[in-house]
Amino acid sequence: MILRTAHWTVIPSVAKESNSMRIIDGKAISQAVKDEVRAEVAAIEAEGKRKPCLCVIIVGENPASQVYVRNKVKAAAYTGMESMLIELPATVSEEELLGKIAELNADPAVDGILVQLPLPKHIDEEKVIDAISAAKDVDGFHPSNVAGLWLGKDCVVPCTPAGVMRLLDSTGVDLSGKTAVVVGRSNIVGKPVAKLRLDRNATVVIAHSRTADLASVCRQADILVAAVGRPGLITGDMVKPGAIIIDVGINRTPEGKLCGDVDFASCSEVAGWITPVPGGVGPMTIAMLMKNTLRCYRSK
Ligand code: NDP
Repeated sequence: MILRTAHWTVIPSVAKESNSMRIIDGKAISQAVKDEVRAEVAAIEAEGKRKPCLCVIIVGENPASQVYVRNKVKAAAYTGMESMLIELPATVSEEELLGKIAELNADPAVDGILVQLPLPKHIDEEKVIDAISAAKDVDGFHPSNVAGLWLGKDCVVPCTPAGVMRLLDSTGVDLSGKTAVVVGRSNIVGKPVAKLRLDRNATVVIAHSRTADLASVCRQADILVAAVGRPGLITGDMVKPGAIIIDVGINRTPEGKLCGDVDFASCSEVAGWITPVPGGVGPMTIAMLMKNTLRCYRSK
């Protein structure tokens, strides 16, 4: 029998060491986040004020980027925000792109600016990220926001790590004193995830490609986040019984199926909680982008 709640599904028969394994339903939780934003935007509109506006820039025709961008604009429309999609050819010069960003930085009607990555090779991504006004940096990648996160200041937090925290919060588990391992140390996922869990008083371990004996490091984790980009890297024998597993990875199998970094079949036999791919972290990233846009609007 499968018991359904608002945000997770209990599968009592699957877990071996724990009584029940619960799937954390990122789709449902992201919907709740988008509905929160939608309600706030409706209240802004009801007061007769200007609505928040998100501007998304895409350069070139990378099919994956086009899907992400479309979903971001669709989510903005759902929340009732204004959105602008600027599509630039792959041949656009770095100077032209920076010029467009400067224009949007100066536009009082634009609250959030997102440049979809990756960019074509002739454009310096770091320069582009730095050029976006920190006050409109809805991705939370600008050095001021990165510094703010590490210094414990009130700032824009990157969407995927913020989404990971929201998924963890949905379990009701207090992170204080728990061992929290993140596999992956990128600036956009691994490092901010580590800092956000440190802020909740977890004992944090960051693992990476040079980590010796990854399996035994992962087995220490009460909370295990995988953000690597290697299908099935985390297997059931690497998981502590009852652990919470959040799978950030987005990979494709040779058959073209979407999968995470976590081998769901073996890990779900041991974990207490687990996110699926798709339907876990992915939808949260977009929902938290909406939250960040609203935040930038409100901090003006
Ligand atoms: P990066 O490639 O920037 O970083 C990957 C990290 O994994 C690196 O720190 C690397 O270590 C580490 N790593 C690589 N191989 C191993 C290994 N065998 N054992 C342990 N660690 C390893 O990736 P991102 O952080 O950008 O993304 C990670 C995954 O998350 C990808 O699948 C990506 O598609 C997905 N993603 C999903 C999002 C979502 O919305 N759901 C958003 C962003 C990313 P080292 O530093 O030593 O090289």
